[in-house]
Amino acid sequence: MSLKKKDPEVFSLVEKELQRQKDTLDLIASENYAPEEVLEASGSVLTNKYSEGYPGKRYYAGNEFIDQIEILAIERASKLFGMPCANVQPHSGSSANFEAYRALMKEGDTFMGLKLDQGGHLTHGSPVNFSGQLYNIVSYGVDKDTEQLDYEAIMEQAKEVKPKMIVCGYTAYPRTVYFDRFREIADACGAYLLCDIAHIAGLIAGGAHMPAGPYADVITTTTHKSLRGPRGAIILAKEEHCKLINKGVFPGSQGGPLDHITAAKAVCFHNAMQPEFKEYASQIVKNAKALAEAIANQGFRLVSGGTDNHLLLVDVKSKGLDGKIAQNALENAGIICNRNTIPYDTEKPFVGSGIRLGTPAATTRGMKEQEMKIVAEMFSRALEDPEDEALHSRINSEVKELMGKFPIYGSP
Ligand SMILES: *Cc1c(COP(=O)(O)O)cnc(C)c1O
Repeated sequence: MSLKKKDPEVFSLVEKELQRQKDTLDLIASENYAPEEVLEASGSVLTNKYSEGYPGKRYYAGNEFIDQIEILAIERASKLFGMPCANVQPHSGSSANFEAYRALMKEGDTFMGLKLDQGGHLTHGSPVNFSGQLYNIVSYGVDKDTEQLDYEAIMEQAKEVKPKMIVCGYTAYPRTVYFDRFREIADACGAYLLCDIAHIAGLIAGGAHMPAGPYADVITTTTHKSLRGPRGAIILAKEEHCKLINKGVFPGSQGGPLDHITAAKAVCFHNAMQPEFKEYASQIVKNAKALAEAIANQGFRLVSGGTDNHLLLVDVKSKGLDGKIAQNALENAGIICNRNTIPYDTEKPFVGSGIRLGTPAATTRGMKEQEMKIVAEMFSRALEDPEDEALHSRINSEVKELMGKFPIYGSP
């Protein structure tokens, strides 16, 4: 009510964004809709507090309740992901990786991560990112034929390279990550294993992907993707890394924690422990499989031939398009997604040959397999002629009508 009065300009843009979210189909694999209780905690008076330090060891007075909130978040995170130590203060997935790397490595140390253009994240060693600038990067890739991780090949490479750390967990990899295999690889070359589960944290929490907890030295994850919490991240670790990780976060790289976000993280972990969340996670995967099958039936080639998780990579080159053209056509049709490189892509990264699609957000809205068939049909029709504005505007209306049946926050 007061935002509307005090700053109508910002208010009206927030309203417009809400309407956009309601009217369009969100297939961005890293996005979701935070539930109202998470928004409520994020928008609470906890934003007023300073609490540098950790529960019981703060540099400011007045942290009686903040301490209890952070302890709740820590205990829930530990339990949810099965690791003894949790730091719930990192502001983002990238900061969490920065902090975890600094705790386990010295500048110039070697680490192995998946190539960015084959599904890795910027923070896994890209030369434009701190990770590629502070450390010596030896990237691994996916197999050219299967477009999947070849654990034997990574084992051979790791034995030769002897990295200080191996990073697994990805942004655009549609298949199961076998953390147990990565543990064997890390053990064989004496490396730390860092599992960056940002994309699949919700699947792991809901039992729809194998857990990383039993295998990792350190886990980093965002809380806003499939986990459906506030924007932010956490770090989980084995007992022996606890101290260094905590020091690395504060005072190493951050000042005061975002206490309102800590509370929202606690709420998110609570939600993720409920039986409904198991159903949610398994429905995400069912939807991704249904979407993959229906899109393949429309004649598109899927990277690796399908999906085991929440996302699929569609090779739009197989229909004579590129990622940029396809993304724009789909956006005009109300289908929001992002272009992506595919393994061994011949296009520049800014263009890409792929479209990445994910089902966490659509599943939150209540969509099931039968809607995925409708979505695949609209996806395919929108790409029949990427220049046909009338066609896209027709599909846009259909999308809007469909989304009206799956409200986000109560009303359509
Ligand atoms: C999204 C993501 C990140 C980074 O998260 P930000 O909060 O955007 O900084 C890190 N690693 C992986 C694997 C991701 O998917």
